[in-house]
Amino acid sequence: MSDQDIAQNLKSIQQKIETTAKSAGRDPEEITLVAVSKTKPVNDIYEAMTAGQLHFGENRMKELEDKMLEIETPDVVWHFIGNLQTNKIKYIADRVNWIHSVEKAKYLKEIEKRAGNENRVVNALIQVNISDEKQKGGCKPEDLAGILESAKDYKHVQVRGLMGMATFVDDPEDIRSEFKLLKELFDSHQKYNGESVKLEHLSMGMTNDMEVAIEEGATMLRIGSAIFGERNYD
Ligand SMILES: *Cc1c(COP(=O)(O)O)cnc(C)c1O
Repeated sequence: MSDQDIAQNLKSIQQKIETTAKSAGRDPEEITLVAVSKTKPVNDIYEAMTAGQLHFGENRMKELEDKMLEIETPDVVWHFIGNLQTNKIKYIADRVNWIHSVEKAKYLKEIEKRAGNENRVVNALIQVNISDEKQKGGCKPEDLAGILESAKDYKHVQVRGLMGMATFVDDPEDIRSEFKLLKELFDSHQKYNGESVKLEHLSMGMTNDMEVAIEEGATMLRIGSAIFGERNYD
């Protein structure tokens, strides 16, 4: 993608966030745009940074590790949004700021250990499967409470909210109920909040369904193709 395109795309998404939030009676300031740069070259990330974008998301652990090493700028906030592998958490724990895809207590335990070795705190979101599609990942809604409880004494991982991926459909209206479910779980699990668990964020909404996600309470949007163009693979 050319630089103008990336800057222009970011601008129109920011505008869309603003109008959608306002018409839903929400403050656009409480919504963070995570630019999903997976499969895209580092140059595209620099172009987005020049346009003022600071939050970036990747879904492969190795790719995130490589890009974090290459882009040394301390202002960048790195989000991991893909499948976790326990034995690779050590490779990203020194830099990653947010991990959206924690679906098991064992990953929290490993993040606690590895971020502790680095003397850091990593923010985690618990991914819940709201779509009934197994391949989308995430814990079952009924397992959420146990995962939150497992984190209550951790020092180097802070659970800050929930993440969900809706079913891919042509009409995002069809998946409004999935976002509503995540919001309900978010509300009903506030009672688990404590020192290291503070449910404040809802990471939901992608290129295809960002407007519905904003209407249903998203505070983090994970947007890839609308910023960087189509991908050849995921
Ligand atoms: C790729 C990806 C996105 C972004 O998808 P787009 O449709 O390109 O906006 C968001 N979340 C996750 C978990 C992803 O893997």
